[in-house]
Amino acid sequence: MIETKSKEDELLFPWIEAQITNFLQEKNLEKKDLLNLGIGDTCHVMPECITHALHESVVKMSKVPTGYGSEQGRVALREKITETVYAEQDFSKDEIFITEGIANSLSLLVGLFKEGSVIGVLSPTYPVYQTLLKVMGMKIVEIPAKNDLSFDPPAEKLDGVILCSPNNPTGIAFSKEQLQKWVNWANDRESLILFDGAYESFIFDRKTPRSIYEIEGAKNACIEMRSFSKSIGFSGLRLGYFTVAKELYYRGENINKKCFTMITAKTNGVSYLIQEAGLAALSKEGLKEINRLSANYMDKTRRLKEHLLLQNQQVEGGIHAPYLFWKIKGCSKEKFMEMLYKHDTITIPGIGFGKDGYLRLSGFLTEEGLNRACKTLVF
Ligand code: PLP
Repeated sequence: MIETKSKEDELLFPWIEAQITNFLQEKNLEKKDLLNLGIGDTCHVMPECITHALHESVVKMSKVPTGYGSEQGRVALREKITETVYAEQDFSKDEIFITEGIANSLSLLVGLFKEGSVIGVLSPTYPVYQTLLKVMGMKIVEIPAKNDLSFDPPAEKLDGVILCSPNNPTGIAFSKEQLQKWVNWANDRESLILFDGAYESFIFDRKTPRSIYEIEGAKNACIEMRSFSKSIGFSGLRLGYFTVAKELYYRGENINKKCFTMITAKTNGVSYLIQEAGLAALSKEGLKEINRLSANYMDKTRRLKEHLLLQNQQVEGGIHAPYLFWKIKGCSKEKFMEMLYKHDTITIPGIGFGKDGYLRLSGFLTEEGLNRACKTLVF
């Protein structure tokens, strides 16, 4: 999915689509004729172990009635998550909540805050947070990036904060030390961190945490959200989960219990078929595929970055997620138009994520796409 609304201009993404449509009509071209470095979606077909699991589950449904499942998610899948993802963190199945992805998790979890709560959001980051927080009547405080695109906790007390690591659009993850500061900050101020780990599978260096729960004190102040969208291409299937420790209290309330009530009231669980596919994604073969696909996109991102650096461009990020943050002179919307008209290339203006003077380039590319990018982006 291309991210929806921008903070500067609610209509930025429809605006991008309109510019592309005009351009294609003017030049008598089709979208496939363009180099698309804008899309933040996977571009490889689903691994065989997933399609096989889906087929098998359909056949099973023709033999055994399945009916409703648990609202919190199938026990087998929740147990699998505790054994694989959280092998080192000691969570039980009752602390895992299965959803249709982070979009779904977030809209449930923002419901933990009272209307009018003050929520911190990084800038730049995934713009959907601000859109959702506004829709749900929250007040937003922006936390600006430092020069190196990292973030320190603010001095003030906030009711909550949404952290994204690795961050979209920069492709940079928080270090262990940085996360420790945030967890301490939240514990000291009775704040709640919603931690978006959509891109955790792209972290390959061992010193950078993939999970907030690698940080001391996190179980008392954080909820982690994960997704199968980017790691193994479930963006169309829709599956994710969030994790809430039983010991997490926020403003006097036990949050694990509250999440159980909320998910029971608001959903009847996720499709049986998709949860079976999720189990396959966490099988030995599925985990290998996650590593293979994630490494493949990171390789494309690294090669695209190297190419641009050789062209004397100032490119940042792309270290822990397949996004490059390309520093440009002037307005990012103007540069977007220049890239479209001079290079037949789609990018995303940085202002869409809350930071002008940059374009986001996506490394979710096929080999063919990367070759084309290297031929096209010559300055
Ligand atoms: N979080 C971030 C940071 C994203 O960039 C995206 C999609 O681009 C999502 C969440 C959406 O995740 P899901 O497909 O699990 O809803």
